[in-house]
Amino acid sequence: MSKTKETLCLTFPPEVSGQPVVCNLVRINDLDFNILKARISPKQEGQMTLEIIGDRKQCRAGMRYLKELGVKITPVAQKIQRIEDSCVHCGLCTALCPTKALRMDLNSREVLFLREKCSACGLCTSLCPVRAMVLETENGIWEAIAEGA
Ligand code: SF4
Ligand code: SF4
Repeated sequence: MSKTKETLCLTFPPEVSGQPVVCNLVRINDLDFNILKARISPKQEGQMTLEIIGDRKQCRAGMRYLKELGVKITPVAQKIQRIEDSCVHCGLCTALCPTKALRMDLNSREVLFLREKCSACGLCTSLCPVRAMVLETENGIWEAIAEGA
């Protein structure tokens, strides 16, 4: 059966902090995984960008498992935005973007933002000179923030 890859932004409630949630998630549902970003806020809420790899049924079961534990799952596309009017297509971000979600169109000389490839790592938000790439913070505010801030 062919494998699929889902990139998820996860918010862990304080109640599950200290529990091996990701470990159990991949073990119970027989998934492969890749942690792209993780941090804990002062409120002890954990944030993680996680790739899970498996067939569709396994991925769906994994997401159900997370929801049952109270983990909030947000699609990556809702976490990173480009302010189109601000982008000057300088191309700086294309050198840094690890997933090639930002890439130069050689015909138009414009930088494309391919949301479906974005892992929400946040690197572009700290690099962009005009702050065109913005990340949704814990307060629901869109802003350019430094990686690891
Ligand atoms: S670094 Fe900013 S302004 Fe330059 S292409 Fe990327 S998003 Fe646009
Ligand atoms: S957050 Fe920016 S640098 Fe990171 S994958 Fe998405 S577009 Fe690329």
